[in-house]
Amino acid sequence: MAGKAEATPPPDQSVDRPLRIGVLAIQGDFEAHVDALRRLGAEAEEVRRPDQLADLDGLVIPGGESTTIRMGLQAYGLEQPLKDFAEGGQAVFGTCAGLIVLGRDHLGLIDIQARRNAFGRQIRSFEADVAIRGLGDETLRAVFIRAPWIESAGAGVEVLAELEGRPVVGREGNVLVASFHPELTDDLRLHALFLALAAERERTSHA
Ligand code: GLN
Repeated sequence: MAGKAEATPPPDQSVDRPLRIGVLAIQGDFEAHVDALRRLGAEAEEVRRPDQLADLDGLVIPGGESTTIRMGLQAYGLEQPLKDFAEGGQAVFGTCAGLIVLGRDHLGLIDIQARRNAFGRQIRSFEADVAIRGLGDETLRAVFIRAPWIESAGAGVEVLAELEGRPVVGREGNVLVASFHPELTDDLRLHALFLALAAERERTSHA
């Protein structure tokens, strides 16, 4: 399993305008992500149509129910536009069901095999303190709700955190995934890392 944590940029947002971030709003807890992003100074908006991806610096795919989100992506004609968006270098952050949707079984935008409802029984939800490489010594309180874990990952994926020996945060280039719900706590360091990825792209595309 790869683990080049030093390749992760620090959560620093040094661009001269607010980043514009979309949150996929088909199903799930998209409103909490919008709030979290706004608290970090980004312009955040709900996305349901392909044309809304234009001019965004990044996109969040929230937690919820991955089968419902996947069917919604098909119904709204969003699958190919989302692939083009990520392959164009814009940052994408998938949490919980969003991790599943971004993995090999669905959009294939990060080289991970997700295992659904992996932590114990389907109903199992819990909180845990997770150490995240590159985000400082302090652990992050993470809310797991019928969470997946990363069963296997390609060599290009950096594993940034593990729980019970299972990868729960991963990054491949501009795509970041987390098994848990970082939008449900006040510790927004993972959202800040995501904004740093979005800012990175903003800087390099205008250099
Ligand atoms: N168990 C859900 C699924 O497999 C994900 C749960 C979540 O996003 N909180 O789609």
